[in-house]
Amino acid sequence: MNEYDSNRIYDLTSRIGFKKTYVKEEADCFILNTCHIREKATEKVYDEIGRIKKDFKKTKKPLVIVSGCVAQAESEEMMKREPYIDILIGPQSYHKISDLILSYNRKKQKINETKFDAVNKFDELEKVSNLQNKISSYLTIQEGCDKFCHFCVVPYTRGPEYSRPFKQIVNEAYNLVDNGVREIILLGQNVNAYNFSKSNKNFTLSSLIRELNNIKNLKRIRYMTSHPKDMTEDLISCHKDCEKLMPIIHLPIQSGSDKILRLMNRKHDRNFYLSTIKKLKNVNKNIKISSDFIIGYPGEAKKDFEETLDLIQKIGFVNSYSFIFSPRPGTPAARKKLNNLLESKKRLIKLQNILEKLQLENNKNYLHQYCEVLIENKLENQEKYFGRTKYMSPVIFDSNNCNPGELINVKITSFNQNNLFGFHKVNKVQAA
Ligand code: SAM
Ligand code: SF4
Repeated sequence: MNEYDSNRIYDLTSRIGFKKTYVKEEADCFILNTCHIREKATEKVYDEIGRIKKDFKKTKKPLVIVSGCVAQAESEEMMKREPYIDILIGPQSYHKISDLILSYNRKKQKINETKFDAVNKFDELEKVSNLQNKISSYLTIQEGCDKFCHFCVVPYTRGPEYSRPFKQIVNEAYNLVDNGVREIILLGQNVNAYNFSKSNKNFTLSSLIRELNNIKNLKRIRYMTSHPKDMTEDLISCHKDCEKLMPIIHLPIQSGSDKILRLMNRKHDRNFYLSTIKKLKNVNKNIKISSDFIIGYPGEAKKDFEETLDLIQKIGFVNSYSFIFSPRPGTPAARKKLNNLLESKKRLIKLQNILEKLQLENNKNYLHQYCEVLIENKLENQEKYFGRTKYMSPVIFDSNNCNPGELINVKITSFNQNNLFGFHKVNKVQAA
């Protein structure tokens, strides 16, 4: 979501003459769009400001803006800890960025803008074209969360659940496709909780997917991140009816133990999760699932961890993420006794080894097969291209004739854990 927000911040600031530079020393302004989900992400912000300070010590002081969830959660503390910051903007206030910069330039007074204002933000953003023209683009449809998992800061930093107006999203999708986008990834902290009502009509994520499925030049649709509780029958049926909807779903479970799921306040158990996956596979047997896992949650015993490993083997997850529990200020879990960190690290390594093995086995299945790839770009100074399979796996391949945005069949000749490699030759390939 920060990638989407960063692009929109760029769209907004380009209207007051700002341009991107890839040469650090040339910059007059740094905007750090930050994440507060784990402590490590937060600390990175201070490290980066430290580097900017050092680089500009002998020259000018650039304008330093911190936006995003760290600005929201730690605003007062940040201004005290790092006086080099000039402007702080929360994730629901960034539509005001240009006015704030102009005001700062006039008055030279530090600004702290962290109001919760999701409705106003999207109404304002609607007036500024989304200039994104990559082949694959994010599109935020929903923000915030009302679920209050005990480990998570999102309900406090992004605020309550808010769904953007249906028509506003559809217009933005058409705009993106007109710019050359061929894949749209619908985004939300709880994307499948999307729910918008107007004139007695109710729109859900499935209504949106069905609408986007009709956009002529759009080739692929994805959505993330979903909560298991919100995987409705209607959404599941989209995986049968909508040919542009890709057969991979990021559906975090966090833990395979019912005891831990209860302590996390996840509002679903292991059986509910398994039955949801069964329903998905019943409508499309090719669906694959990825997940997030939190290891070392307060109270996680060896048995709970083993139940997580067992679930991983049962489901055979692909492309998953795993983290050691990071206590976040203000959340209920932060008040609990921490697990032994060394033991948690050992568990994380064990779990990641299993996930890596599954990923490798999954990639091995592609060997000597043709698979459908959406081409995203040509690699610099090489006759090689980059694209992704339906399941998001990155593919690097040689081709004698192809263009970004095309869907082609690539023959896979080798693989590693993260990538597939192959070739594409016009007139010689058959669909898998
Ligand atoms: N809404 C999604 C869901 O319900 O699963 C998750 C969104 S959350 C922004 C992204 C991921 O960060 C979570 O799935 C979780 O695994 C991880 N995460 C969140 N808080 C964490 C914490 N305190 N410590 C470690 N990982 C955390
Ligand atoms: Fe955080 Fe997801 Fe739980 Fe909401 S549902 S509190 S975003 S982990």
